[in-house]
Amino acid sequence: MNESMDLVVRGGLVVTAAGESVADIGVVDGRIVQLGGPMSGAREIDAAGKLVLPGGVDMHVHLSPVEMGGKSQPWADDFVSGSRAAAAGGVTTIGNIGFPRQRERLPDLVERIAVEAARDSLVDFVIHPVLMEPDEGTGSDLARLAELGHTSVKIFMSIGGFDARTANFVNALETAGRRGLLTMVHCEDACVIDHATAGLLDQGRSGLRYYPDSRPALSEEVAVKRMIGFAETTGAPIYIVHLGSEGALAEARAARGRGQRVYVETRPIYLYFTDERFGSDDAALFVGNPPLRGVRDRDALWAGLAAGHVDTCCTDHAAWTLADKLDPELTVATARPGMSELETLMPVLYSEGVRKGRLSLQRFVEVTSTNAAKLFGLFPRKGTIAVGSDADLVVWDPEARRPIVGAKGMSRAGYSLYEGWDVVGAPAQTISRGEVVYADGAVRGEAGRGRLVHRGPTRDL
Ligand SMILES: [Zn+2]
Repeated sequence: MNESMDLVVRGGLVVTAAGESVADIGVVDGRIVQLGGPMSGAREIDAAGKLVLPGGVDMHVHLSPVEMGGKSQPWADDFVSGSRAAAAGGVTTIGNIGFPRQRERLPDLVERIAVEAARDSLVDFVIHPVLMEPDEGTGSDLARLAELGHTSVKIFMSIGGFDARTANFVNALETAGRRGLLTMVHCEDACVIDHATAGLLDQGRSGLRYYPDSRPALSEEVAVKRMIGFAETTGAPIYIVHLGSEGALAEARAARGRGQRVYVETRPIYLYFTDERFGSDDAALFVGNPPLRGVRDRDALWAGLAAGHVDTCCTDHAAWTLADKLDPELTVATARPGMSELETLMPVLYSEGVRKGRLSLQRFVEVTSTNAAKLFGLFPRKGTIAVGSDADLVVWDPEARRPIVGAKGMSRAGYSLYEGWDVVGAPAQTISRGEVVYADGAVRGEAGRGRLVHRGPTRDL
């Protein structure tokens, strides 16, 4: 026998983006030190008949309040409940979108939210600062972020401030690229949205059934096209968050065909639901930005996910309670976008994707873990199973049948869009840096054990 391990995960089918084989995994001090060969551990987990996957890397979650115009809007989930939902769903690293308070500099906002997350999070985390008002200090802020290992920044084209300061945003994009930061972009055109929304209100069509018309697919397409142009001009890489339409995907594909570093994220709702949901009484539950589109869009995203034109599936976890979401006063102008997804991301994608033959196991691992780890400077510490990597593992039971019951979930949303879905495949255990944080239906481990991960530069896929 070799030296004794803290933990051995024995006999599982170890799946990475590169392939799969049955192997024992030896862990010491939270890191993988041996793959295969004889080993014994102080603690052993029997994974025979199960898969062992790299822990999920969900780089798009909202567990800290949105700050806008001096107002602070918290979500139903904070780092305590959100990170518990992550662990229960097999996600071991989260990337939280952090909004600045008025006049707060980017490095200060990252530090402020990192303190909160370090106190409350069960799983490891990174913070993506939102750049709201680029100014003469932004270049040095971005350089400082890179030095501190915070190698991403997020911008919103859907907010009026973008059009008021486009030149500054493009300069910031260029600087970010030069410093090894990945710029995440919410691509919807503010002008198209404002105009369409005002038109609907004028016509007395304010109800949420008209929500998709308030943000037409065109608003996403023109924004994606424009941002790809800015990326080409500056040579900077971009990561388009929650891409939801066939036309926008075609633009991204074409840019990649020209050799541009344009990366694409989609989110669960676009894979499982279409805009016909807006014809039902519970339309409000399906409000997210951009809105749900048609069958062709849904099918294009599945095909893109399988073929490698869509790089990641992240949640955009932004939880509301059922009462908040179904508030009858809401209109197309005041709708509450967002939904709870952290606990269901991997099980539903496995069930609908891998089980139904739409995604290979390797692609499942790539889109839920490896690609995000690479793009966000976390690889190979996160996103794979290899000697030297953090022991962030999911012992996955491919046959587990667990109908989804939102009220039993870890999210404070208290409901799920997948209520009652007969999902096959789920985490049996979730392991974060060698510590079991979820097993047998229960979350384990203490809030505050999660750590801020200092990152390297973004890397190409
Ligand atoms: Zn988001």
